Amino acid sequence: MRPETLAIHAGYDVEPTTKAVAVPIYQTVAYAFDSADHGAALFNLEVDGFRYSRIGNPTVAVLERRVAALEGGVDALAVSTGQAALNYALLNVTRFGTNIVTVPQLYGTTYTLLAHLFAGQGIKTRFAESDQADAIEKLIDDDTAAVFCESVGNPAGNICDLEALARVAHRHGVPLIVDNTVATPILLRPIEFGADIVVHSLTKFMGGHGTTLGGMIVDSGAFAWRQHAARFPMFSEPDASYHGMVYVDHFKESAYIGRCRSVYQRTTGAVLSPLCAFLLLQGIETVALRVERHVENARRVAEFLRHDSRVAWVNYAGFPDSPYHRLAQKYLRGRACSLLTFGVEGGFEASKKFYDALRLVTRLVNMGDAKSLACHPASTTHRQMSAEEQAKAGVKPEMIRLSVGIEHAEDIIDDLDQALAAAK
Ligand SMILES: *Cc1c(COP(=O)(O)O)cnc(C)c1O
Repeated sequence: MRPETLAIHAGYDVEPTTKAVAVPIYQTVAYAFDSADHGAALFNLEVDGFRYSRIGNPTVAVLERRVAALEGGVDALAVSTGQAALNYALLNVTRFGTNIVTVPQLYGTTYTLLAHLFAGQGIKTRFAESDQADAIEKLIDDDTAAVFCESVGNPAGNICDLEALARVAHRHGVPLIVDNTVATPILLRPIEFGADIVVHSLTKFMGGHGTTLGGMIVDSGAFAWRQHAARFPMFSEPDASYHGMVYVDHFKESAYIGRCRSVYQRTTGAVLSPLCAFLLLQGIETVALRVERHVENARRVAEFLRHDSRVAWVNYAGFPDSPYHRLAQKYLRGRACSLLTFGVEGGFEASKKFYDALRLVTRLVNMGDAKSLACHPASTTHRQMSAEEQAKAGVKPEMIRLSVGIEHAEDIIDDLDQALAAAK
């Protein structure tokens, strides 16, 4: 079925005991065993079922199946936030002494995770000079555990050539891990272009209403962990932390998610609550409709800003002269994302005045809400970076990042218009 349908139906059949049509919220910590043998079989993963909600929960499982279906993956693990998803997704393939090769345009907290936290744990991150495949390939060596990128960078708005990145990663026996938060599977399904693992912050467009944090890791099932056992022994050697489990034998094509759940989720517990899973499922039911309107409103807002002399520059992949226009045609089928950046004529001070004058558009650090939102990355999400690091990540001091909402486009434009007047 197609994404619009999957977003509403995938992963849930009417629950047989109550016939509940909406996904029930299973607000329970644990699940009863029929007998000691049944409990043992559950712990040995010999039978399907739930044991304890840190490892799995029926409401959360519906969300996992739904997002896996939307992304075209074989399995998925839901976690409490997008950052938890990135942490687990990358820890699951790395060990002390290995490295991650990444494009430089990253979400601010992801940059911090890679550049500072992982470095302190003996996992080095190599930041490429650009998002081009040859810049990535230069940095891959025998200790590289993953190539990482955001399909559409937040806030840089760059679109990665996923096919080219997958080709160089796979040439060296390394998986491509893609954060698909900005694009959503409605605009882009990275697995179709060779991504092995897809990560989401469901907090943004997927949930869509700015009410609930959540993260997801989706496994394509395509990466040959057994074939690359020298680089990734954790999937094909017996795991002492799980009574000798060999993940590729037990979980077959979903060995990656099986290990992520059995090792990281079980022992460090960044769990998504059943209530949050329910709220995210409500949001996802309308994600296709919302993204369509987000995209259309963004096109109108971008056109307005481009033709206004009070605006210095606009970065929007929908413009024919954008450096990412060709990639937007290929990967987003021409539907440029509703996250766009611009600078007000007059630099940092003028942009700040503009920002302070907004009335309808909310000042905050978030995106993908039904509401239009504006953020000033240099003073918030990217403030921990040096000026050079900011420049590499595509952040300029005067840059305003707009997440164009689904209000009436004219009302959004009216607000931008009055704020531009105030900045003059
Ligand atoms: C917001 C965001 C994250 C982090 O997600 P949280 O749910 O806030 O933890 C990661 N990557 C991208 C691209 C994001 O926009």
